[in-house]
Amino acid sequence: MNDLLEDTEPSHCIENFRLAAGISRGEYHGMVFQDSDLYKWLEAVAYQLSVTPDPALREAADSAIRLIVQSQAPDGYLNTYYQTHPEEKRFSNLQNNHELYCAGHLIEAAVAFARNVGDTRLLSVACRFADLIDRTFGPEEGKLHGYPGHEIIEMALVRLFRQPGEKRYLMLARYFIDRRGQAPLYFEEEARRDGNRSFIWNETYMRYQYYQAGKPVREQTAAEGHAVRAMYLYSGMADVSAETDDPSLLEACRALFDNMASRRMYITGAIGSTHIGEAFTYDYDLPNDAVYGETCAQIGLCFFARRMLNAQMDGRYADVLERALYNSVLSGMSLDAKRFFYVNPLEVVPEACEKDDRLRHVKPRRQKWFSCACCPPNLARLLGSLPSYAFSAGDDTLYMHLFISGDVCAALAHTEVRLSVESEYPWDGRIRLAVHTPGQYGIAVRIPGWCRGYELKVNGESVPSEPVSGYIELNRLWRENDIVGLDLEMPVLLMRANPAVREDAGKLCVVRGPLVYCLEEADNGSGLHLLRLPLNTVFEVRDEPQLLGGIRTIRCRAFRESRSFAEGQLYAPACRADETAETQLTFIPYFAWANRAPGEMAVWIREI
Ligand code: ZN
Repeated sequence: MNDLLEDTEPSHCIENFRLAAGISRGEYHGMVFQDSDLYKWLEAVAYQLSVTPDPALREAADSAIRLIVQSQAPDGYLNTYYQTHPEEKRFSNLQNNHELYCAGHLIEAAVAFARNVGDTRLLSVACRFADLIDRTFGPEEGKLHGYPGHEIIEMALVRLFRQPGEKRYLMLARYFIDRRGQAPLYFEEEARRDGNRSFIWNETYMRYQYYQAGKPVREQTAAEGHAVRAMYLYSGMADVSAETDDPSLLEACRALFDNMASRRMYITGAIGSTHIGEAFTYDYDLPNDAVYGETCAQIGLCFFARRMLNAQMDGRYADVLERALYNSVLSGMSLDAKRFFYVNPLEVVPEACEKDDRLRHVKPRRQKWFSCACCPPNLARLLGSLPSYAFSAGDDTLYMHLFISGDVCAALAHTEVRLSVESEYPWDGRIRLAVHTPGQYGIAVRIPGWCRGYELKVNGESVPSEPVSGYIELNRLWRENDIVGLDLEMPVLLMRANPAVREDAGKLCVVRGPLVYCLEEADNGSGLHLLRLPLNTVFEVRDEPQLLGGIRTIRCRAFRESRSFAEGQLYAPACRADETAETQLTFIPYFAWANRAPGEMAVWIREI
């Protein structure tokens, strides 16, 4: 973002702030939402600084914050694109120009900095801008009755309200959500005011669904349009419903989540089946090679699933959160954390990505940076805030969603609870929880949806119990150093897709615990489409500490089609059964793919 990295496309992001602050002279460059990259990075830094003091990082963040403070206009407005284009009118193109989106990211970073670092300079900037937005938008006459083309400010305003901030931030978030999709459609009015500005999605089937504005949000029942925007909107809806006790809004969230998770989500947790509009398409349309599956969309899915879990402690939300997190979120980043995927495919043939324009968005190797660099800093802020996804503190019960090793300190209604977790998850299912706070309270552990068998013990003694909505709650008088032991069976499973998913018909997918596995050319040669798995194959799980940063591979016997065709022969009569030769396959976790020489990759393998 500061354009100091060699061999990397300049971002111009920080330079845009210098221009807005009047420190530099020149022209704005980059996307209209380039500011958001810096805000997302600052949010990630806030989480990181709260864990590890790092003077160099602190200084870098400091200088960015000083620059942001200098860039803010006297009335509180802050958007470097509009500040460097004074001929364009503020808030005149909500449909496309991301001012409210950038404001949302500013607020998210500001709250994170105040909460995690205790530095409120950015919060002051964010509040002044939020106040200006509140003076500009709302139901009153003379205000704009619009809402953002790209959502996020809804959940950001709720966060600002919870900081704690003023109630009008929450009311503004609710206004944006309630106005969305109401007739007459604001984006049409806005386009007319702007001399009948053309609307690029008008000619498509998707139309206003691209912005989740085809209908009022409470009438929406299917996940539609741009997948990142959808996840951010639904997350904001869940936040507003939680703070305003709005059952109709929560009901809409449930319907949208169910539609997405049961009909429009890949087995890796990826969402967005088409690159056209980076969008959802229709039920069961899940092409493996042409998928979009933007890293940000899966990050947004984690936001949404986490919020649904807050609304209702139901393990199926945690199952989706975990599925995305361990597979299609993590695949967005290389093992050395220096290269990134925008698109997360489930099937790759490098030549197709290069020569078939329908697949040009799919890359066989991760890139250092993007002109639209939304994903890398989004990953950083999600991973930095991971602890907040692992546990929930109820009134008298601590809920454990993710089995991540570490120390936990959580405030229940009447007591502060400390405990520590030890696990090698996701490689095995042995989880140990040591209690450090004596007293009467509940600890609820999640039994993942993929798990068919488990054993739960307290101090070595079995506790017979059935999960309720995916959790087993142990409510007792805890003594210091009590040990809760949870052993989740983690066999290798072969999965099938619903028969309505045409792309996966006759195919199988290998999973173990929360991890989806894939085949790569590096281990299995090219022509992965020729491979066939028998249902009764026997799997061997191997610990490979030297491979791909330390993974467990899965090996099994399979078959490869070997029918020989004459040179130049494209077709031949199918007069006998396919010839096959026995072969050995090596599967690696999907998140670790594309960390060696580029080659073919496949998640779904044909069944013999
Ligand atoms: Zn992205």
